Amino acid sequence: MTNLLLENWNTPFDLPPFDKIEDAHFGPAMEAALEDGRAAIRAIAEAPEPPTFANTIEALELADATLDRVAGVFFNLAGSDSNPKRQELQRAFAPKLSAYSSEIVNNEALFRRIDDLWQRRDTLGLSAEQMRVLYLTHRGFVRSGAALEGAARERLTEVKSRLSVLGTEFTQNLLADEAGWFMELAEEDLEGLPDFVVSAARAAGEEKGANGPVVTLSRSLIVPFLQFSPRRDLRETAYRAWAARGMNGGETDNRGIATEVLALRDERAKLLGYESFAAYKLETEMAGTPEAVRDLLMAVWSPAKSAAEADADVLAKMMAEDGVNGPLEPWDWRYYAEKRRLAEHDLDEAELKPYFQLDAMIDAAFDCATRLFGLEFRPLDVTLYHPDARAWEVTRDGRHMAVFIGDYFARGSKRSGAWCSAMRSQKKLGGEVRPIVVNVCNFAKGDPALLSYDDARTLFHEFGHALHQMLSDVTYASISGTSVARDFVELPSQLYEHWLEVPEVLEKHARHAKTGEAMPRELLDRLLAAQTYDMGFQTVEYVASALVDLDFHDGAAPADPIAAQADTLARIGMPHAIGMRHATPHFAHVFAGDGYSSGYYSYMWSEVMDADAFAAFEEVGDPFDATLAAKLEQHVLSAGGSAEADALYTAFRGRMPGVEALLKGRGLLDAA
Ligand SMILES: [Zn+2]
Repeated sequence: MTNLLLENWNTPFDLPPFDKIEDAHFGPAMEAALEDGRAAIRAIAEAPEPPTFANTIEALELADATLDRVAGVFFNLAGSDSNPKRQELQRAFAPKLSAYSSEIVNNEALFRRIDDLWQRRDTLGLSAEQMRVLYLTHRGFVRSGAALEGAARERLTEVKSRLSVLGTEFTQNLLADEAGWFMELAEEDLEGLPDFVVSAARAAGEEKGANGPVVTLSRSLIVPFLQFSPRRDLRETAYRAWAARGMNGGETDNRGIATEVLALRDERAKLLGYESFAAYKLETEMAGTPEAVRDLLMAVWSPAKSAAEADADVLAKMMAEDGVNGPLEPWDWRYYAEKRRLAEHDLDEAELKPYFQLDAMIDAAFDCATRLFGLEFRPLDVTLYHPDARAWEVTRDGRHMAVFIGDYFARGSKRSGAWCSAMRSQKKLGGEVRPIVVNVCNFAKGDPALLSYDDARTLFHEFGHALHQMLSDVTYASISGTSVARDFVELPSQLYEHWLEVPEVLEKHARHAKTGEAMPRELLDRLLAAQTYDMGFQTVEYVASALVDLDFHDGAAPADPIAAQADTLARIGMPHAIGMRHATPHFAHVFAGDGYSSGYYSYMWSEVMDADAFAAFEEVGDPFDATLAAKLEQHVLSAGGSAEADALYTAFRGRMPGVEALLKGRGLLDAA
């Protein structure tokens, strides 16, 4: 059978011929791609010639050409337009792909060649970018254990496989605890709850087979319940159940798993020659060391805590006026904070929405990119994978830069959330390839489609990631676009959100859907002021979790993580009425896998940078300053992972970021 995925496409911009690709093509194409990859790896590892940068590192860069092509199409469709067949393929591909990548890092002959090049690196006459790719390739192998021998190597494999079992168990226990609890509500218990909470509670009741509405432990239901329910007794019951996830005793208790995970991670780091798991994990991040992370978190902690304590006093007074005695408790905070929000920042979503038309916000994101980087966008008349997806050609001075696909509407076949992916990445090795970049969102349809302000921010956020791909200008695909440290990758996206707040952008693009009038200045001011409401609370609950995560992995593994968590909270003086955003037994970021272990801080690290980077434009008094925009492109948006993130940032800003702009942005500066 001919398989379109493996053939020349001969389409405009070499776009995948979506209307001709069939699901039946994916399985055989994936098999062929893995076979191609294996043959290429074998040819590199077993080559009789001594290793050179070209015959080893560049050959490795090109080894997955077919795989990248097939996977680029498949995983985009699996995420944005799934069906049972694609889900089945996804389950089948996962173990095959993970086996393939372990085969590569465990290929001893291949590693010997890479290591030989690394040892001789100064004699190879490499460019800075080539040196960087060699360094990253070698480091990736070493961090996976390629340099270990004998018993140490075997033990590392055991530790990794046990960790992956524990991660899955942790998640399943958490899901079981979340699914297993609900609280039935009588009709009178619904009093004070807004319609959307009542209907969510009724729907949850039906789903649970209860006789009426219920509160479950799903964040999208319990948080609004805690915000709106005037029944303090019910709030307490719900909150306590929510906080106890993963520590209810019995088979689904996660405390033992947490202890074992931390011990195994410590062992893994030491096998690989690192002082601690945090040292191992942070080596590849912009932060670099546990100390740098701690400095950041503590610089934010004190002002956040002061702000939260001042807020707690106000809320406690409101509670006393309600006739409730005793201290403000964690199940009271959201309720009184919501009452206060209504009094101080009454912002009606319905009043705002007509100003944020989807098409106008797409234009706004494009317009900012035109003014900053000279990019132009031309709609393309091509057939994509779904009628809702739209494509544009992106050019600059007549030169083709990228194809941008925007797929904005929610549908049953799309997973939730919003994301940016490259269906094809930019690179120059083997001939210049320009990227195909996709933004996927889950906005509600309408005529015209209207966004909330948060939706509009999401659109700008994902478009910032897209710029990182579309402006990429490197030779090697492994460092192209968003292939950067995890605590650096959100800089372009979070930074781009700031342009949505620029008054002249809103004046031009945020126009009323019916009247065409610009948003009134007073509404705009109220909108921006409401953005920083209750930031003391939000910052405290987040930073406490980030510090506990860091303490767990910096130094020897604790014998009792729950006691260690309590020690950390006591040391930093956690306010009584605020719980951690995620406590240990349900801290999935940290225990369900490795992604955010000693990495939970990174959300805030990125925010420090985006605030500090935008402050550069504020300092010169022009959000579209051409010199700064050129520097941002040169050192960040086009540079991918071609240098360490701190070097890239410093080249753009002239110094490393400070926390002042973040504190200002969160409205915490007065408390500092
Ligand atoms: Zn993002």
